[in-house]
This record gives sequence, C-alpha cells and structure tokens, in this order.
Amino acid sequence: MVPFVDLKAQYLSIKPEIDAAIQGILDTCQFTLGKEVAAFEEEFAAYSGSSIGCGVNSGTSALHLALLAAGVGPGDEVITVPFTFVATVSAIHYSGAKTVFVDVDPETFTMSPDAIERAITPRTKAIMPVHLYGQPADMDPILAIARKHGLVVIEDAAQAHGAEYKGRRVGSLGDLACFSFYPGKNLGAYGEAGMVVTSNPEFARTIRMLRDWGAEKKYHHVLKGYNYRMEGIQGAVLRVKLRHLENWTEARRAAAKRYDELLSGTTFDAPFVRDDVRHVFHVYAIRVQKRAELQAWLASHDIQSGIHYPIPVHLLPAFADLGYKAGDFPNAEMAAAEVLSLPMYPELTAENQQRVIAALSAFAQVPAGDHRELSPV
Ligand SMILES: *Cc1c(COP(=O)(O)O)cnc(C)c1O
Repeated sequence: MVPFVDLKAQYLSIKPEIDAAIQGILDTCQFTLGKEVAAFEEEFAAYSGSSIGCGVNSGTSALHLALLAAGVGPGDEVITVPFTFVATVSAIHYSGAKTVFVDVDPETFTMSPDAIERAITPRTKAIMPVHLYGQPADMDPILAIARKHGLVVIEDAAQAHGAEYKGRRVGSLGDLACFSFYPGKNLGAYGEAGMVVTSNPEFARTIRMLRDWGAEKKYHHVLKGYNYRMEGIQGAVLRVKLRHLENWTEARRAAAKRYDELLSGTTFDAPFVRDDVRHVFHVYAIRVQKRAELQAWLASHDIQSGIHYPIPVHLLPAFADLGYKAGDFPNAEMAAAEVLSLPMYPELTAENQQRVIAALSAFAQVPAGDHRELSPV
C-alpha cells in the first residue's frame, strides 16, 4: 500500500530524541506552557523570520487570538478565501466578525489580489490570505492594498512552515501569522498545537493573556480570555522536530520534483508553482476531470489519495448564513471539483512515487467509461 502520509515512519526515524523529550516533561511535570514551550516559541519565531511566538493549543486558536489581538470583533468584516480548510472561516466566526470572501487565483488557488479592493467596505478590518498547500499567497499586492486601506494582514500559514515568498519567510510577511502543528502538518505535534508569530509586542502581550484566561498575572483577569495554552509535551516534541524540519522540507521538495518529472510523461499536468516562492508541499495536488473514477482506481491499486477540499467554504451548509451561492467564486468551485492530492510526506520513496504515476498512466489509457468495471471499490 502507498499511504497518503506516514507518521509512524517519521517517529521511528527520531524515536530516541522524541522519547527523551517526552520523558523530560514527565520528569519536570511542566505539563502546560513551561520552559520547553517558551524555548520552542523563541526557536519557531526565529525560524519564521519573526520575533515573538505565542504557543497555543491549535492552529484554529491561533487564528482566533490573532483576530482578537488585531481588534477584530462584532460589526467588523474580514476578507478571506473560500478555498481553504473550514477552520480559517470558523475562527473569523468565533471573533464575532463577518467573513467576506474573494475568489482565488485559478492557477495557484491562493487569494487573488485583483478581487480584494471591490470587497473592502468601511467595516473591513483585516485580510486573511491562506498559504494553501504550502505555497505562499501573492503577498506584495495584498500588503499594498492593506496599507492603503489601513487593514491588518493575518497570514493563515497552517500549511506552510518554512515556505518563502521573494526570499522572505512565511510568518514575517503580515502583521501576524498563524501556524498549526496538527500531527499531519509539515511540522506536526504529537497531539494538538498551534502558534501565532508577530513582531508587534502589543499583539503578543494580548495573545499571551487571552490564551491563559485573560490574566495579566495569576488571578488578575483583565480580559475575557480562553484556555488555549500549549501543552508542555507538545513544546518538547516540536523543539525536537523543528531541528529536522529543513531536511524534511527538502525531502518533500525533492519528492515534488520527482512527481513533476514523472508526470511529464503522462497526460496529467504538474501543479503550478510560482517562480518567486519556496513551496513546501504540504499537499501535492494535481487536477483531473474524472476525479471520483481516478480516486477509486488509485484505491483499487492500493494507493491512498485525498481531496483538499471537495466543497468550498461558501457552499458548506454550516456557512449558508453568509448568503453566498454556487457560481459566486468560479475559480474556487472549479478547484474544489478538480483537485486530487497524491501521497506526499518526507519519507515517501521514489519507488512508491513510480507506482503512483504508473497507476495514473494506466488510468489515462483505459477507454472512458470502463474505469468503474476495472476498479472494484
Ligand atoms: C490545519 C489548518 C487550520 C487549523 O489548524 P488546527 O491546528 O487543526 O486547528 C487552519 N487553516 C488551515 C489552512 C489549515 O490547513
């Protein structure tokens, strides 16, 4: 079987270091925040080209607190994209603000800068671009529009640890940036975790209070806060894994290059990558017309695949109250209908990649309509 991701292979490759780090937390009993989390905050902020890291319990919490620190609340509007994981939009909803969508670029699937100005109203407070699949959004025009209109830019960098835009690290581009360390992300905890990075000390101060019940010091609650603290074990595990992240990212990039080369001998196109970015390939997604048939075909060849994401957020029942309808964001809708994510993780072997591409080629050679009979699922 070719799995979609293989967390076990990665754990086994660093087991002694991880086991020692977890044992260290058991020995000190710093189960929540503590020294390991503080050290990880510093190291990850530096890695992301930013100055202050605020560790929290998920990427969603990071987005929520970044919005609150930026002063976003009821009556405000936040501009983002519909082609993202639902958490981006849920976090805006938690803040009390209204989500205003703009369409994505048809090639990169990240926020289309051309669409932003038309979406700005007197209530707009922030823009939240998403670095989808590990490819940075086109940040320079987004930042220019934000500056012109006095808006805060919050990067949703949950899929893009270590990605770069014109030589600048994701995390250093906007006013605040939010990362997820969900186990399947490029830098994954052994549980749930997330972080906001910023170079603004005022934002960081607010986020540090909000994640811990709004307390300035113990029992002095100056804000209505949350229990969003990062666990000690996650901080310790993530510190170990951060030391390996560049190697893993290079392995992902090498695997992507191998896929690109193998695909050039087929009827499928490799994913579009801007030439001014370092794409970190959280997801390697191709586009296909007969996606359901191809996914079933791959499954019948023991190859797992994924769809990120089958329904754009503006068409999800949970967000019907935003009032959008099919046809509002054609690029997002087309992407949602066509993308198919191939297995991608640092330990993916060239041999397994060849199996994936061989199965794709075989699919393309079967006459249309015959796939179902040939792939019992
Ligand atoms: C994973 C993800 C999140 C949410 O992170 P969690 O740690 O799962 O809460 C937010 N936005 C995007 C784009 C993501 O991929």
